[in-house]
Amino acid sequence: MEQDMSHYRMNYPDRIRKRGFRVTPQRQLILDAICEGEGHTTFDEIYARVQAKAPAINRATVYRALDFFRELGLIFAAEIGGHTGYEIASKPHHHLVCRCCGKVEDLTDYHFHDLSAHLLEEHGFKAELDHLAIPGLCSKCLKAIES
Ligand SMILES: [Zn+2]
Ligand SMILES: [Zn+2]
Repeated sequence: MEQDMSHYRMNYPDRIRKRGFRVTPQRQLILDAICEGEGHTTFDEIYARVQAKAPAINRATVYRALDFFRELGLIFAAEIGGHTGYEIASKPHHHLVCRCCGKVEDLTDYHFHDLSAHLLEEHGFKAELDHLAIPGLCSKCLKAIES
């Protein structure tokens, strides 16, 4: 077993069943493949892990499963460095993505608490800010440009 047991802890089969869907071996296999990424993992990485265990599963099936998991809120996806990074949904968190060197820094959620409250108050808009990738320049690249 992998050390990352988050999808067992979250009991995905139950969450899928509660919404009236079946937990097929394919879906379980694809969830496992995301889990094995330990953090963000690309479609190609997920697909390669799935292929190693079940060569008959094609790309379209994996894409459909990823869409399905996103709709159920089981996984996060974000544009990071020109790729979509997938990961098992955990508590809300964000990423600072340097467009110059590609470095990805984690960002806690508290920066967005005020923003969410304002959007709801002033616009009646319930923002879903669970997982943002914010593009920009990291401190190192910024220094290099300014010097
Ligand atoms: Zn993330
Ligand atoms: Zn940088």
